[in-house]
Amino acid sequence: MIIQVSDLTKNYGDLKVLKGITTQVAEKEVVCVIGPSGSGKSTFLRCLNQLEEMSGGRIVINGHDLSDPKTDINKVREEVGMVFQRFNLFPHKTVLENVMLAPVKVKKMSQEEARKQGLVLLQKVGLQDKADVYPERLSGGQMQRVAIARALAMNPKVMLFDEPTSALDPELVGEVLAVIKNLAKEGMTMVVVTHEMNFAKEVGDRIIFMDQGIIMAEGHPSEVFGNSSNDRLRSFLGKVL
Ligand code: ADP
Ligand code: MG
Repeated sequence: MIIQVSDLTKNYGDLKVLKGITTQVAEKEVVCVIGPSGSGKSTFLRCLNQLEEMSGGRIVINGHDLSDPKTDINKVREEVGMVFQRFNLFPHKTVLENVMLAPVKVKKMSQEEARKQGLVLLQKVGLQDKADVYPERLSGGQMQRVAIARALAMNPKVMLFDEPTSALDPELVGEVLAVIKNLAKEGMTMVVVTHEMNFAKEVGDRIIFMDQGIIMAEGHPSEVFGNSSNDRLRSFLGKVL
């Protein structure tokens, strides 16, 4: 298990957002997280890479216990890549420079090596020909693919995606999902929060249905999408399918 979460809680003041999340993610597994807006999906991901401090419980990622004060959180963040709904690329840097930045700054990789790696990663997301343009010249789907390449540049063990396609025009969703699907094929361990149910069904090894701060249902896509015994899941799927 590369991610182990036990009884994770997160409060914002009096608001209990995560009310005891327990789950594991195996190496090379793709877990898709679905659920209504406000159910705590983003908070869960943000706890996994310590953008939010957990209120209680335990998270162990790739052997790092996040609640252990001796754990080097920056090291954990290097191993856990994250892609957000909004592709916050650096506007004054070219596509390639965006991808080169973190390995050079954080990992002290040489410019030359970072450039070489960056071009390989841009090729992987189908954007090698955009290396020298600025983000403003890209479509939303292209920007998001650069954001994925940028996260991959740190050679992460795990990738977290928080609704990577929900800010995109419908015709651009497919190209981003295709890149994520390819990563799955290559064996990248991933947790993907998504509203794309067909993608979740096809690519997810496991589905987590979150509702009101808990995991309401969890299992193989065929189980979760075929499950009519859980009222809240049935109601959610009725709205999104
Ligand atoms: P989801 O991603 O499933 O839509 P979120 O994790 O974003 O849900 O939010 C869960 C709940 O936590 C919501 O009620 C939201 O308003 C609240 N919340 C999220 N972030 C914060 C924050 N930084 N401060 C206070 N409340 C927050
Ligand atoms: Mg969210």
